Amino acid sequence: MEIDTYDVAIIGGGPAGSTAATLLARAGRRVVVLERDKFPRFHIGESLLPFSMQTFDRLGVREKLDRTFLPKFGGEIVAACGTKGVKFYFKDGFRSRRDRSYQVTRSEFDKLLLDHSRENGAEVREETDVKNIAFENERVRVDIENSAGADETIEARYLLDCSGRQTVLGNFYNLKKNYDHLQKFSVFAHYENVDRPEGIDGTLIRMVRGLDRWFWMIPLTTTRMSIGVVMDTATFRAMKLSPETALEQCIDEQPMVLERMKRAERVSPVYSAGDYSYRNTKLFGDRWLLAGDAAGFIDPVFSSGVFLAIISAEKAADTLDEVLRDESRKRRLFKKYARTVDYIMDIYLTIVNSWYRRGKEFIEVFLNPTDTMQIAAAVNAVLAGNEGKSLAIKWRMWLFYFFVNAQRFLPLSPRLSLVPKKETSPSPAEPVGAIL
Ligand SMILES: Cc1cc2nc3c(=O)[nH]c(=O)nc-3n(C[C@H](O)[C@H](O)[C@H](O)COP(=O)(O)OP(=O)(O)OC[C@H]3O[C@@H](n4cnc5c(N)ncnc54)[C@H](O)[C@@H]3O)c2cc1C
Repeated sequence: MEIDTYDVAIIGGGPAGSTAATLLARAGRRVVVLERDKFPRFHIGESLLPFSMQTFDRLGVREKLDRTFLPKFGGEIVAACGTKGVKFYFKDGFRSRRDRSYQVTRSEFDKLLLDHSRENGAEVREETDVKNIAFENERVRVDIENSAGADETIEARYLLDCSGRQTVLGNFYNLKKNYDHLQKFSVFAHYENVDRPEGIDGTLIRMVRGLDRWFWMIPLTTTRMSIGVVMDTATFRAMKLSPETALEQCIDEQPMVLERMKRAERVSPVYSAGDYSYRNTKLFGDRWLLAGDAAGFIDPVFSSGVFLAIISAEKAADTLDEVLRDESRKRRLFKKYARTVDYIMDIYLTIVNSWYRRGKEFIEVFLNPTDTMQIAAAVNAVLAGNEGKSLAIKWRMWLFYFFVNAQRFLPLSPRLSLVPKKETSPSPAEPVGAIL
């Protein structure tokens, strides 16, 4: 039987897989995407970051995205006690050149990107499950089960794993290391008719921070909202409730969420996810690279997942294209790829660690904006996806973490209880244009 040979086989057609596929196809490479599901399908990860815009431009997909999705101009973080909140806008980030990203319904977003890969020349096989992988004779052989349930084998010179949290190669080589200090659990659903402000403020992601949990409220369309809560897995287990009842109870106990949900109606099942914070100890091998969640995922807070998926996939596609041109440079280019992706993930790991480990102090400093030395603008830029490579951002971030740590011993910012009050007062968030 004749076996199809590709330059690159990609496992997974999520944002990482489709980004890499489009770029490789545009570079003239023969590329195949093997996707287990039939799109559109539900996926979580709906709030995007502005620093993905340059990749969307490169993919040639901006116009389609502009036509289809709500813009997102920033975020709002509110203390659960209802006494303090802050809105921030991406335009105010340190030396900002991007004022927006998108809030997306992932089923539509992922399909749009995958269809775009097809239009750009990638072969996309949906309902195709990768079953086994074997590396041999400078080739990788991938055993797949196709949509008709039949087994097939394809060959490629390189394999790019974009299989998301399935981490196909991470499991194959036993590379996955969980972050034990980030054992979190999330429950979430879509709602219609959740109240929101008019205009630009109606596009912001709203995060409500309690003592042992935080909520997201993401406007997906003009009427639909994604609402979820994140807590320790141990806290969820101790509730002894189904995800559906847990979500209802968490919302009911939370006036800063409930105040907007008087007319709300749930229009999706309640979904849940846990055990999702990990990194693979190696991001490349002789004939393979990992990108997106297949390389690692940190945490939903600050919405970095799709940004990391897209930027790592873009770098993986560029790396593979160069290696296909000149294999003698492979080792150096693969190492550089892994260093870069690890570096960007570490930026988010640091801010996520601070958010959870110094929970109260982080939020007290964050919600007390003073734009001394443009520290707030630097934090804003990092949360927009700025890799923070410049010294100008680095020292400002260092000072931000210093203030958060110092807040434990010395209340530089007013203390907050983060315990919900029974009566709701009007939303306290005031536009400040910057955060700290
Ligand atoms: C609770 C929660 C909330 C989140 N919120 C946000 C947010 O607001 N913003 C944000 O940016 N990110 C968020 N994320 C993260 C986001 O979901 C991911 O980072 C993002 O989807 C990663 O994209 P990806 O392409 O790497 O993987 P995926 O989008 O998961 O795509 C992987 C694809 O691989 C396919 N696949 C898997 N195994 C196989 C196989 N064996 N054969 C063939 N195909 C296979 C899957 O079907 C899937 O389509 C959140 C995550 C969680 C858990």
